[in-house]
Amino acid sequence: MRPSMFNVRVPLPERDELFLMNTLTDTQLVVSRDVGALLDRLEAEPGGPDRLSADEREAVAALAEHGFLVRDRETERRALEHYFTGVREDTSELRVTVLTTLQCNFACDYCYQGDHGDYNQHAAKMSLETAERVARWTEAKLDEIGPQAFALTFFGGEPLLNLPVTYYLAERLWAACQARGVKMHVNLITNGLLLTPEVVDRLLPFGLTGVKVTLDGDRETHDRMRPLRGGQGTFDRIIRNVRAVADRCRISIGGNFDASSVDSYPALLDFLRAQDFAGSIAKVAFKPVVRAAEASRPEGFIPLTAVDRHGQPLGATCMTSAGAGSATGACDTCHFADEKMAWLRDETRKRGFSTLDGVHMGPCEIHRRHAHTIGPDGSLYACPGFTGDAALSTGHISGATDALQRRAAARFERLAAWKDCQDCAFIPVCAGGCTTAAHAELGDLDKPSCHKASFEAGVVSLAREAAAAAEPQLVHS
Ligand code: SF4
Ligand code: SF4
Repeated sequence: MRPSMFNVRVPLPERDELFLMNTLTDTQLVVSRDVGALLDRLEAEPGGPDRLSADEREAVAALAEHGFLVRDRETERRALEHYFTGVREDTSELRVTVLTTLQCNFACDYCYQGDHGDYNQHAAKMSLETAERVARWTEAKLDEIGPQAFALTFFGGEPLLNLPVTYYLAERLWAACQARGVKMHVNLITNGLLLTPEVVDRLLPFGLTGVKVTLDGDRETHDRMRPLRGGQGTFDRIIRNVRAVADRCRISIGGNFDASSVDSYPALLDFLRAQDFAGSIAKVAFKPVVRAAEASRPEGFIPLTAVDRHGQPLGATCMTSAGAGSATGACDTCHFADEKMAWLRDETRKRGFSTLDGVHMGPCEIHRRHAHTIGPDGSLYACPGFTGDAALSTGHISGATDALQRRAAARFERLAAWKDCQDCAFIPVCAGGCTTAAHAELGDLDKPSCHKASFEAGVVSLAREAAAAAEPQLVHS
């Protein structure tokens, strides 16, 4: 027996104990410090020290039961492969993200899409005819996979700029799910400007469970970061809209920060806490803005968020691990991002809002065979971060795929950047980081995009919570 490579530990000096987590089995324990010493002995002597006391044998049995001790590395690596296969082949839920349009009514400073120049005149918008084909394609997937649940996410651009397609897909796929006994959830990711009770009421009967709205800092900062084309602020109108729908559905608040805006987030959190709808906010989570460098922007590619002041990209449409920070040093702000993400998580929790724990961040949907992103023209992508990058489209809902798409699909099928991560304890919850970020920052989607410091900070927060819990599970040796 030897300690698992997926053990992470945090000392709890005030309790003279250790917080122990195994990221593969997702078990968390608070143990006495002598258990830490016992693990060290077992690491030094993988066969097991000759003489274990009765108490130590009992502790070894408990640790082995929870995956903190394993037979050997080979067995554990096989278990890891098995775990990723399980994630990839999981059929319990079909997830489809539909970009109803790439048009946007905002002119965000950090986004080269949106209402800049003549972008909106040329940006693609899904037609009802394509939406009908998307519905047929999705129904065929439901029949092929037989999931228990179906998650439909509307995204863009600004998805509410194409309400006919949004309503059509929600209604038709709701009927398809009802007929098949599948539980359906609809999520809407919107900038909030066109969010009204009418939109929410129209979607609620068809499974709307969550609306995610972006606020990029306090009023002044948000209005600077996310203005309309004429420079008018959008904060007050978004807040009014959120207030108007908050008693109807779950609201999540997201935000994209950079060095110039991050310090305004505590003021935003204070503002949100003081609102009459604060109790309706289900989750708050912020991430660094990624501003793709000019040269690395494929036409139509959706950056989503972030880039730093040097113009280096840090992430993508969505992410579990933002930014670069790899040994190649593509981005020199990764420490800033990691530190600030941990700090913002703490600030968010302090104000009583639920947020990401910083550890359970993946594997993201790019590692799931039954998660699909569909662009406005019906093209398929491995995840929202690659939408619009035609060279990396993996197919089309029509079934007609060209050689380029087949090659891209095969690349994503083989994706396993974590294999370069050696014995990192966070592989099961990180999987090598955001593939879109690796592609944008490192020019290689097979390379890890590492934000280990952010995971380490997340474990420290989990440890603090465990220490504060009344009766944490305790193992003695
Ligand atoms: S690779 Fe994963 S984390 Fe990155 S944009 Fe795609 S789904 Fe999001
Ligand atoms: S990318 Fe970094 S944190 Fe993620 S698994 Fe690899 S080494 Fe670990």
